[in-house]
Amino acid sequence: MRFEVSKVLDAIEVRLTTDPALARAVVDLSEIVRYADLDGGRPASSVRLGLVVDALGKRLSEENVPVFVVAPRGLLSDTDLTSNERMVIRRWADDGKVEVVPQLDDRVFEVAELLGLPVLTRTRGNSERHPWVDEPGRLLAAVAGEGGSTVLMARVGRGEPPKAAERSPLGERLLARVWSCPEPNCTSFGSGGDPDSPFADMRTYTSPVSQPPPSLRGGVPTCPRHGAQLRDAGPRAAVEVLSVRIDGVVRRRFVVSTDEPVVVGRAPEGGRGVMLGQWLTDDARKWISRGHVQFTLRTDGNLTVQDISTNGSGVRPGGTVNDDERVALHRQESRTLAPEDVVELYAGVQVGRSKMWATGGVVQPESVMAEAPTMALRKFERS
Ligand SMILES: [Zn+2]
Repeated sequence: MRFEVSKVLDAIEVRLTTDPALARAVVDLSEIVRYADLDGGRPASSVRLGLVVDALGKRLSEENVPVFVVAPRGLLSDTDLTSNERMVIRRWADDGKVEVVPQLDDRVFEVAELLGLPVLTRTRGNSERHPWVDEPGRLLAAVAGEGGSTVLMARVGRGEPPKAAERSPLGERLLARVWSCPEPNCTSFGSGGDPDSPFADMRTYTSPVSQPPPSLRGGVPTCPRHGAQLRDAGPRAAVEVLSVRIDGVVRRRFVVSTDEPVVVGRAPEGGRGVMLGQWLTDDARKWISRGHVQFTLRTDGNLTVQDISTNGSGVRPGGTVNDDERVALHRQESRTLAPEDVVELYAGVQVGRSKMWATGGVVQPESVMAEAPTMALRKFERS
């Protein structure tokens, strides 16, 4: 059973992000692990994060929805968690997958405000400090649903789906810059530290383009982990968020920045890029090359696609469903994409800007709990 718990944690891990372009909700891990009423289990369990991640995906009707997880440092020594769970959370923190802060204060709400994301919480939020918490769909509560499922309810406007808002103007300004932390081993705002250190190769750093938003202390951009004042390290690369949609279902989102083009295909070389293989039918697999199309965001803001495949691809101008309007894109040909153009690698295998597809088109997204049948887990947790 222990084995299954680690599998669940592995499945959850791929849903963790502090990337402002990809996160869809903000959560406080120390609060979620104690939602005992969701499963009737032990006082604290990291597996509850999985219940909540699943519920969010279902609410957004989308596969692979990532969350921005904040954890107070005290959680790393919380003995209500197993030593294995504490070790996993520590590793997530070291890899920059979750943000660990000395004290929570209102960091969860700060991130939500700067990024315009909904917050998953059972607290009310401070509507004097953050008036937006009273808007429908911005505060979400997890409650036990039928048959052991977990359901997200909006605290205001109960039927509302989770609502993303615009980033706050301050958030926009902060995220237009790259920030640098004076702490040599800062995962979030680090720049490499001491290259001669024997551990230099083992460190992972968040890429400048996906740095989380700084914390503001008295108006000064500050490292949320270290409390140190951050240095402005120059402009941040612009990004565009794209979605892979296969047969009407959004499978995942990805980011193209002006720093780095992104290859999409069956299995792009070197493990980089966006791999579609696991979602394709046999016919689509035969048609789609390992690296099929490449997306580039130019510094003038134009997004272009280049075909790098064997069999070619196509563009549907304005997302048209009319096959006669589909424009063929031959090998090595490239094209600038208008805001609603959709690139088609094979019939039904599409890539377009994420804002085009408001709903992910899937009723029952894949569960991160698949490895842990709820009933079995409960039995384990009670024993
Ligand atoms: Zn730092």
